[in-house]
Amino acid sequence: MSMASHVSENRLPQSDRPSEPRVQRPRRAAPADAVRPTRAEVFLDALRHNLRVVKRAAKTAKVWPVLKADAYGHGAPAVARTLERAGADGFCVALFEEAVELRDAGITAPILVMSGHYGASHGEVIARGLVPVIYERGQLEAFAHAARTMGLTSAFPVHLKVDTGMARLGIQPADLAAMAEAIHDFPEVKVSGLMTHLACADALGTEETVEQMRIFDEATATLARFGVRAEVRHAANSAALLRGESSLDAVRPGIAIFGVSPRAEGSQSPLTNELRQAIRVRSEVVSVRDLPTGAAVGYGALYRTTRPSRIATVPMGYADGLSRRLTNVGHLLVRGKRAPIVGAVSMDMTMIDVTDVPLAAVRDEVVVLGSQDGPLGREHIGAEEVANHQGSISWEVLTSISRRVPRFYREP
Ligand SMILES: *Cc1c(COP(=O)(O)O)cnc(C)c1O
Repeated sequence: MSMASHVSENRLPQSDRPSEPRVQRPRRAAPADAVRPTRAEVFLDALRHNLRVVKRAAKTAKVWPVLKADAYGHGAPAVARTLERAGADGFCVALFEEAVELRDAGITAPILVMSGHYGASHGEVIARGLVPVIYERGQLEAFAHAARTMGLTSAFPVHLKVDTGMARLGIQPADLAAMAEAIHDFPEVKVSGLMTHLACADALGTEETVEQMRIFDEATATLARFGVRAEVRHAANSAALLRGESSLDAVRPGIAIFGVSPRAEGSQSPLTNELRQAIRVRSEVVSVRDLPTGAAVGYGALYRTTRPSRIATVPMGYADGLSRRLTNVGHLLVRGKRAPIVGAVSMDMTMIDVTDVPLAAVRDEVVVLGSQDGPLGREHIGAEEVANHQGSISWEVLTSISRRVPRFYREP
């Protein structure tokens, strides 16, 4: 496989073994430490289900789930172990540090490191069997140097990223000829993959995506003319994949793996409807009070009751990832019913109006994200809904759930 690590750690001479990672990672609250009732539940069967949906859409293409940003807030080690066992072909992360975390967690599948920051760790990238994405001559040179120093006997595989119109990372088409020359200058490295990233795959129209794919094909042909032929090409994120286009040889789904639609409202594909949100964030009512008409609620008195009201306090605030932009906007679920957020979301707490939720009481479960079955019905709050309320996107909602919220992993 072209993404496979081609040097195993135990074949390295002792002196080239990677030292312990120098990276201090923030420690997330562990389930065992959980005293406060606010927690995130991650449903491992939903992850496996979503992987199956994605695999069906990918047809013969390899599926490399994207587990950057702690697997979109779900906890990268546990998600990677689950998906690796369920047959993911490899993984993508943004950072070298994230790849190290997965290797330390025992993940042996290929890992593509997409952001291009390698610091002084080129040797460690090689030793850890990672596949780096490059887009500049300097990166090629650094990996060639490391490969030479380590005495590799075969060319070290990297993926070359092409900027086809997103203007973020990637070599621009005009510079491809010079890059091809550089590739020949450094035989210690080989370009085993070509990738690009789509800017508008989640939009209603397809014009930009079609144009980006055309430029990608052209870039592929240009490189081939200069003798650079990659074994795999990949472009599709969740949106492009579920839309049924541009799977090429591999796909890089992120948000779909977590069961959240990547598409604009009203443009869902049937496959999107099969996805199951893998995370549920829940807490409990810790306090309830009855207030007269005209009473102020929360910092800045940003809400005043317009009737005699029952107000419940929930111990989750913006420091946990419940955006302050939800002040007076949106709902939480109590007893299977929606209760509106009232007043300013504060750092550790949020108030909701439970006047219309009969019998709401202290210790009632409160769902911030996900489904709830209660005596008053069944309701669901999706990441898209929260994103719309806070003027953002589902990706930000998921990745904002902070490390103060312990993750519990659930098997059915
Ligand atoms: C984040 C990312 C993806 C995954 O995107 P989704 O929209 O979450 O599927 C794929 N490729 C690259 C380069 C990315 O940065």
